Amino acid sequence: MHTDAHCHAHEMSVSELELYAGQFELIVAVSDDVPSSRRTLDLASQLSFIHPCIGIHPWSIGELEDLERCVRELELMIVKEGVRCLGEIGLDRAFVPETLKAQLKLFREMLSLAREYDLAVNLHAAKAWRLVLDEVVSHGIERAVFHWFTGPKDVMSEIAARGYLISINPTVAISARHMAIARAAPLHALVFESDGPYRYRGLMLNPSLIPKTVDLVAREKGVSTRELVEAARRNLYRLLLKE
Ligand SMILES: [Zn+2]
Repeated sequence: MHTDAHCHAHEMSVSELELYAGQFELIVAVSDDVPSSRRTLDLASQLSFIHPCIGIHPWSIGELEDLERCVRELELMIVKEGVRCLGEIGLDRAFVPETLKAQLKLFREMLSLAREYDLAVNLHAAKAWRLVLDEVVSHGIERAVFHWFTGPKDVMSEIAARGYLISINPTVAISARHMAIARAAPLHALVFESDGPYRYRGLMLNPSLIPKTVDLVAREKGVSTRELVEAARRNLYRLLLKE
């Protein structure tokens, strides 16, 4: 059975998500803000294969008036709903560099919550790979996945050495650079994601692309599809459930 380490399930309907039940044993659902975090928790209460992450996406920061109140609302959800993962959180210097200062303040608060409640983190780090890694390390975070990793080699090596994970996106099918990263990623440090629903260069990202993605990467790495599915599954359970 397949796994998806990063999916914006809150943008999908229950009936749409149910279509994946037969093929996916676990879909990690990330959130963008407080309302989508509520929706993610609601979906997880209805669908057993949805594992919820709550958080505030760096792209959402510009639209939020009272970040402190949002953080307190998320903390209440952690306590009341037994949330085990924060995401999508992080920093973005590629698309919204103008809010970096506010992003950093919020990210540090989220990492402090993760540390306090022993949560995993599902990270966004576009053009901020080293910065995000350094923050995660300095906050003493034990379990982290760097979603759609396209960062430099030295950062990937350190992520793997520290027991963190990178997630590989279906764009490996259309980007030689993304595939080169998947080829180089050690088996103990990778998971697969859809980041769906999202359109990237004509590719409509959603969980149904993951089986083909795993096949392509398995061929590149010279391992069997079954071995790769199992490695990703094991890594994801280690991230979320400390198994
Ligand atoms: Zn995302």
